[in-house]
Amino acid sequence: MLSARFKPWHVPLFAAKYAYLHLKRFPVLVHFEVTMRCNARCDFCDYWKNGADAARSDAASYADAARYFNPVMITFTGGEPLLRRDLEELVAAVAGAIRVRYLAMITHGGMLGPERARSLWQAGLNQFNISLDYLDTVPRMRAIGIDGIRFNTVIKRSNLDQLLPIVRCAEELGVGVSFSTYTDAKNGNTAHLVSRDEQQHLEEVIAELLEFKRKKRGVIVSSDYYLEQVPRFFCGEMHDSCNSGVRTIHIDPAGRVRRCPDFPSDFHWRDFERYSPIDCNACYYACRGEAQAPLTIARVRDVMATAQ
Ligand code: SF4
Ligand code: SF4
Repeated sequence: MLSARFKPWHVPLFAAKYAYLHLKRFPVLVHFEVTMRCNARCDFCDYWKNGADAARSDAASYADAARYFNPVMITFTGGEPLLRRDLEELVAAVAGAIRVRYLAMITHGGMLGPERARSLWQAGLNQFNISLDYLDTVPRMRAIGIDGIRFNTVIKRSNLDQLLPIVRCAEELGVGVSFSTYTDAKNGNTAHLVSRDEQQHLEEVIAELLEFKRKKRGVIVSSDYYLEQVPRFFCGEMHDSCNSGVRTIHIDPAGRVRRCPDFPSDFHWRDFERYSPIDCNACYYACRGEAQAPLTIARVRDVMATAQ
């Protein structure tokens, strides 16, 4: 669900900007990795081992980068973005720099109390993408008027039977669910991959999610296309080229650009050079797969449903 700050009439404005960026071959989604540090200890990601950031851009630099790319959507991510005490300042600077934009933050949520959520909301954040480990935060955020909330849920072997219950829980709480797909690309941990003998089970679960979407749009924000491709990824049948860097880019704390979170940086954003698709299928992150989703009637219905 989109924040009520946005109305259905905003959709054509965003669509026009999206089309313009597409023609210009500029990214529609820019991820600001505001820190490479994290205080969680996920077993499939080594960010928590990182020390202090070697360099950190300030609010004015983020505003300049936002103006330069002028994308449809910007996320503040990491590492754990809430570790930056000046995050409100960064959000406010970016919010004031460009128009027709949607600002989101991706956080594990462990440090997200209602007061911090309120100050970020007032700074201009439109959406909080939070981990499911901190469910109790959501009603408290809703109580202070924050309505742009999504669960970020990674599809992996241990939670296949939890996916539909998560969606129902989100429906009750009045928040959206965005699915992404587990990958061992970050640190080689294969323990959470869905194996070939679990494919049938995975396909049944995906069918249930699609059925839920057919009955009620606006809760599951992942596209039908994205969900349909997930089994292909896990069974190694995905051989598509990846559009990371074309539709989405990541900018690290020093202002350097990389095509995706698992590739090294290439240049400072001031020296930006357009990327081309790459022959890589190491992951099927939502930001990769959704960028490849075709604009179908079902997708338009998804967007309209979330904007109501
Ligand atoms: S997956 Fe996210 S929350 Fe977990 S260690 Fe990596 S950056 Fe931190
Ligand atoms: S598939 Fe794309 S997003 Fe994923 S690791 Fe490869 S280049 Fe990066």
